[in-house]
Order: sequence, then C-alpha cells, then structure tokens
Amino acid sequence: MPDKDGYFGEYGGQIIPPELKAVMDEIASAYAEIRDTEPFQNELRDLQANYIGRPSPLFYARRLSEKLGGARIFLKREDLNHTGAHKINHCIGEALLAKHMGKRKVLAETGAGQHGVALATACALVGIPCEIHMGQVDIEKEHPNVTKMKILGCRLVPVSRGTATLKDAVDSAFEEYLKDPVNSLYAIGSVVGPHPFPMMVRDFQQIVGEEARAQFLAREGRLPTRITACVGGGSNAIGLFTAFLDDEEVRIVGVEPAGRGLDTPDHAATLTLGTPGALHGFKCYNLQDERGNPLPVYSIASGLDYPGVGPQHCFLKDIQRVEYTTATDDECLDAFMTLSRLEGVIPALESAHAVAYAMREAPRMGSEETILINLSGRGDKDADFVAAKLGL
Ligand SMILES: *Cc1c(COP(=O)(O)O)cnc(C)c1O
Repeated sequence: MPDKDGYFGEYGGQIIPPELKAVMDEIASAYAEIRDTEPFQNELRDLQANYIGRPSPLFYARRLSEKLGGARIFLKREDLNHTGAHKINHCIGEALLAKHMGKRKVLAETGAGQHGVALATACALVGIPCEIHMGQVDIEKEHPNVTKMKILGCRLVPVSRGTATLKDAVDSAFEEYLKDPVNSLYAIGSVVGPHPFPMMVRDFQQIVGEEARAQFLAREGRLPTRITACVGGGSNAIGLFTAFLDDEEVRIVGVEPAGRGLDTPDHAATLTLGTPGALHGFKCYNLQDERGNPLPVYSIASGLDYPGVGPQHCFLKDIQRVEYTTATDDECLDAFMTLSRLEGVIPALESAHAVAYAMREAPRMGSEETILINLSGRGDKDADFVAAKLGL
C-alpha cells in the first residue's frame, strides 16, 4: 500500500495544483468508502464473471515449451476477456466508481484506441456518458478502434494541435477535465498519474494474479519458478505480480520495450534507462532530457510507448523485489509469429514482449522449472500491421 500521501517509497504522490489535489482526495475517499462494501464487491464480482468472462484460463503452452526445451511455459489468458485485453478489468472499476460518485461524465485520452474502446465499453455497460480525446494522426491510423468507439456511443474528440498524437490528446482531455472536475472523472488508463490512481487501478487488476496463483497451484501443486509481464505504464504487470510479492521463491520479471535498441533513441525502457523525476502528476523513473522534459519514446507496441511508469514498479525495482529487463521490436515480432504458429494464439504486440523474454530464458532453465506469462491481450489489432511488415 502507498503511504497516506500516495507514495510507494519515494515514488508516486500528487504533484498537482491544489484545486486538483482536492478533487483527487475526494476520489480517494469515495474509493476508500466503497471498495470493501458488499454491494460494490458483489456488483464487481458479477461483472467480472458474467461480463468480462472471468476467471480467464491458465494455459500450458506445450508445443512452445517443447520447442524451446527447458522451462515449461504457461499463459494467463487475459486475451480472452471481453474486448480482448486486461484493460477492461480497471475500466469497469473506474466506471462503477464514477457512477457511485454521481459523476455526469467519464473522460480520458487514448493513443492507439485500446483504452478508449475498453472505457467506452465499460461506460456503455454502466450507463454513464463517455468522452475520449484522440490525436487526429492516431484517428487516421486506428480505424477499427475509432469505429468501435463511435458504435459504443462515446463522444470522440479529435485533437489536431501539436503532433496530433497521444501527448496532445492527454493535454486536450486534461484541459477539458479541469473545466469541471467536480462533475466528471478522468479515467486513467494504467497504474500512473496522481494518487489514488496507481493504487486503485492496481486493485482492479489484482484479480489477474489472484486467479493465476490459485490456478497454477491447483494444476502444478506448487508455485511457478518465474512470472513475467510486459510493462508500459505497468497495469497488467502489477495485476499479475501483486499476488506473488510475498512468495520469495518466485522470481518476478517485468519486460520493457527496447524498440530498435537501447543504444538508439527509439525505445521506451523507462525503468532500465530512466531517472527519477516528475511526470503527469506523480514521481517515477522517466525518460527525460536535462531539463526534465519527457523525451520522445518509441515501441512497435503502441501500448508500451510511454515515457513514465507506475510508481509501485519504481519502488519494487529499488528494493530489488522485481527485476526489469527489455525485449526489442525484432524479438517481439519473432515471439508474435512463434506463439501464433506453435499454439494458435495471436498475442498483442505488447504481450509478445513478455513472450520474447520467456523464449530467451526458457532454454537456459531446467525442465522442472516453469515460467508464467501474463498474456495481456490478443493480437487482432496488430495482425494487418505485422502481416505488412513481414510481407505475408
Ligand atoms: C495497454 C496495453 C498494455 C500496456 O499497459 P500496461 O498498463 O503496462 O499493462 C499491455 N498489453 C496490452 C494488450 C494493452 O492493451
């Protein structure tokens, strides 16, 4: 748990203007009030089971394991959730909270459209208006997600200022939020931003690790040797990791995008190469220039393309409970194709980073050892891009 000011060690907090601090404190207390109440937990549990389709399966990837020859590999299938990724887990939580607080609107930005679609879905379900800001460049690139958001009934606000991509969408959505923070809720898409979001989004994702730990124990009679997940902002990773933090024998590894290489500017390896600083209302490792401005970041997986990272990950790195490593675009593409062809599971490019790590490590491990991967999402959204890239 973070301390009373929202810090995990020296990371996190609320580095925001006083008027916004009051609003965040109000969200924190509303959340604290409902999180353990029976009606809220019952509603959440019902939606997890009957809407998202939880528990998601734990799958033994036999052909992949045999091909690599070493540790056995297991997949936690978050790709099988309704809407195809883990994001729906926290979007439903945030939409329910907004409704409980009597908010009239939920708003957010989206880059590739994954957060936008998950949030628009949750808002349609809960029955609360939703407004998504998206860069014009991204709107043109991400046609299927744009169409889905429109069908789901959210108001899509195109942003044409600056480079018309994610950062400009964040600025635009934030300005809109500041006009009326009392009647709206800014639904952050990962375990980032000011307190209470890193804690709250983690709590909504924690179910992933709770299920996986119980499923693994039931199947194998012991815990996995290693667990791994890709890290963008860090929500799917912390969702898996939380249930295992006290299991000292389990090695926990987060995988960041090395893009075109750590020796180039084209990566988003925040924990690996970043330095502590303030970003988007909280303190974390981030990729910044000498003046503390965020550097442009890059990954083949747009969901990992963020210059900061969740504060709890920063803390877990410093206390050395979790190791953070990287996988390149090329390793990710190889993992994408390998998992598709050996298991019939097309992973999201984000998730393929964790698969790439397992493919690198499994051959060096013993056959009695195991690796549990959080397969955070499915790759339908990436299929055309990969096919064009590889000339299929
Ligand atoms: C958005 C996304 C991610 C990255 O976000 P985290 O907060 O780091 O989990 C990873 N995988 C998928 C499938 C995503 O859509």
